[in-house]
Amino acid sequence: MDTNKIVRQHIEMNEFFTGGFAVKTPPAKTKTPTIDQSQPDLSAELKKIAEEVHSCRKCGLGSIRTNTVPGEGNSKAKIVFVGEAPGADEDAQGRPFVGRAGQLLDKIIAAVGLKRNDVFICNILKCRPPDNRDPAAEEIISCLPYLERQLEIINPEIIVALGAHAAKTLLKTTKPIGQLRGQFQEYYTGIGRAPIKLMPTYHPAYLLRNYSQDNRKRVWEDMKKVVAELGLPVPQRNSK
Ligand code: URA
Repeated sequence: MDTNKIVRQHIEMNEFFTGGFAVKTPPAKTKTPTIDQSQPDLSAELKKIAEEVHSCRKCGLGSIRTNTVPGEGNSKAKIVFVGEAPGADEDAQGRPFVGRAGQLLDKIIAAVGLKRNDVFICNILKCRPPDNRDPAAEEIISCLPYLERQLEIINPEIIVALGAHAAKTLLKTTKPIGQLRGQFQEYYTGIGRAPIKLMPTYHPAYLLRNYSQDNRKRVWEDMKKVVAELGLPVPQRNSK
């Protein structure tokens, strides 16, 4: 048994979400290694979808929302994070993951050496379900085409599905998140296009409710697999 390795992993994971984590990375080859500069700039296409979402009345959520939350980030991002649906903070601001779960997502993104602007962040639903209830099947059916088009346009290398709703919807499966997470799955954007790797992991809100060492370690390990798959430096604990 490699005791050093176990101790190191324990320390890394412990500091992952506490802000004490510092990423020790060799200098990156480009300033933003998760932006694919060879891709055409399709931000106007994403804006068009956001405008359609803005006037969408396809389900009942359209008449009770404060703001639509189409998603935000770089159209050339190699990583897209997909959550479940906007909550109260997101509905108030029209931006994804800006509440407590969003702050934890920011820490997760920072812990692997990235910034929000280096990725794209969105949800299955673009409007807030009342009282943060689970998305209803008819809401998902109405809203999913927006996300599918976003993913087709961005064509990222990796999708990180945050939580059961995102993972099950994108993978069209009923398997529990506990079984899906931790292993790359495949998401298909269209006939003739290569599948996109999808990493299911726990939703930050679930993590906040179940802030155990085991769960944090699981998300930490999932995220390390994502950066390794992109050929980015896998974060090590800073020796300082
Ligand atoms: N939870 C989500 O799934 N998405 C958000 O944007 C915020 C909280």
